[in-house]
Amino acid sequence: MYKDSSPGEINSVMEAAWEAFHIYRGFSLKQRAGFMRAIAGEIGACGDALIQTAMQETNLPEARLRGERARTIFQLESYAAACEKGDWLEARIDTALPDKNPPRPDIRKMLVPLGPVVVFGASNFPFAYSTAGGDTASAFAAGCPVIVKAHPAHPRTSGIVAAAITRAAEKTGMPKGIFAHITGISFEVGKALITHVHCKAVGFTGSFAGGKQLSDWASQRPEPIPVFAEMGSVNPVFLLPEKLKQSAPEIAVQVAASITLGVGQFCTNPGLIIGIESDALQSFVHDLGKAIQQTLPGIMLHQGIADAFANKREEALMQENVHLVAESLLADDAGESQRTGLPTIATVDGKTFQRNPLLHKEVFGPYSLVVRCADQLEMLQVARQLEGQLTATLMASLADLKNNVELAEAVKNICGRFILNGVPTGVEVCLSMQHGGPFPASTDSRFGAVGADAIRRFVRPLAFQNWPDELLPEELKNANPLHIRRTVNNEVTEGAI
Ligand code: NAP
Repeated sequence: MYKDSSPGEINSVMEAAWEAFHIYRGFSLKQRAGFMRAIAGEIGACGDALIQTAMQETNLPEARLRGERARTIFQLESYAAACEKGDWLEARIDTALPDKNPPRPDIRKMLVPLGPVVVFGASNFPFAYSTAGGDTASAFAAGCPVIVKAHPAHPRTSGIVAAAITRAAEKTGMPKGIFAHITGISFEVGKALITHVHCKAVGFTGSFAGGKQLSDWASQRPEPIPVFAEMGSVNPVFLLPEKLKQSAPEIAVQVAASITLGVGQFCTNPGLIIGIESDALQSFVHDLGKAIQQTLPGIMLHQGIADAFANKREEALMQENVHLVAESLLADDAGESQRTGLPTIATVDGKTFQRNPLLHKEVFGPYSLVVRCADQLEMLQVARQLEGQLTATLMASLADLKNNVELAEAVKNICGRFILNGVPTGVEVCLSMQHGGPFPASTDSRFGAVGADAIRRFVRPLAFQNWPDELLPEELKNANPLHIRRTVNNEVTEGAI
């Protein structure tokens, strides 16, 4: 079984990463991209053994895991392409103006890597947000070595992927120490990594408690470092009156499927549904309850997540004025009742919701709370009181949108992705995606964890003043040998100077 890495092992891994950093940061964008494509190839070559191992460790179905592996390969390949394209470098050049008073020197700025990045993956994405997931791909593209702390819920899966990264590093001539895989159940392992002097940034995907703890450790270091923690969210869905009147049955089916997708184990799971008291809302709650009753309870990722879900669900249902609407009526035929997540819908009035902060918290699993507001004003008050979210959704007609401008403004202010007439589950990997949000959805709302812009988390700006062309990095040379897009004297261009 996997044991906790010792302080001595952690120190040598961090020293090796620091050594590797000074070599890897000088590697070209093409070399970094080649390494990332090689990782993608090695993961693909792991074949069915990788899928079977992940199925055993996570209880996730085969089709989901195959899809997630394909997504992980796509992430590596698309971030590699973005790495080579170089837009993320934000190259800016202002050439010298000797006749200006005072004279302007030649100044050229680009983004440079921070240093070794420690990555903590989530249990619910054993590939896409784990060992070779988005954080690892972003850090390698940025020019940073990576130390992965394997998630204890899927250590063997993590080990296979780590071996694939190591093979890719060897085949593409990467420096020793470019990647390391650390195991450990104890939180001390994570703490030792984050507080090590050579750790320069952290990527985390997981619970609020975990992300906040890591962020606190990082900020209390003698040299504080950034932690990019993507944490839980309740992803509120606002049901506006005209849309609900037109489409309550369809929305109920759509939302029920989103709540129960993957046994509710998505950070974008819609855990809060907010409507205004009406016949349409009653009919929606009835239809949603019926759909939930007919959903088979699935087995959760591991016993710890199943226990946490059962406890948090019970705690939420015990709160004053919270009423159970429906739970699944279908028995779990896998004989695994201890590990199943029972699909559940509850309801509460708007005033109670505003008074009780516990009802604003994520219940990670197939659970959602319908908040019944007395009127439009109460819905606005609820929206203004909500914490930061990864996503927020309006189910609305055009007339609803025109009649609820203040609500839309309030909701826009709390989320990273603002959805109209859709569901929050399903996160496209593309440049325009924002996966992050105001605290506590993430620790830094200026960045996101999905799409190649995620590379920008692990870099810092560096300006070169008065350097001769031959000694500048390729990215900033007059001839623009990499043909990247740069802002030269305030004009965006791919041309030479
Ligand atoms: P988790 O329990 O927080 O675990 C994530 C990682 O952090 C694990 O390696 C874990 O190690 C470590 N960790 C947790 N607490 C720690 C602490 N106090 N000190 C040191 N290390 C700590 O999260 P999970 O159960 O894997 O995932 C479920 C949660 O992740 C949900 O809340 C979900 O919403 C969220 N999530 C967010 C996103 C997003 O993109 N925003 C994506 C997926 C999931 P140990 O296992 O040893 O504790």
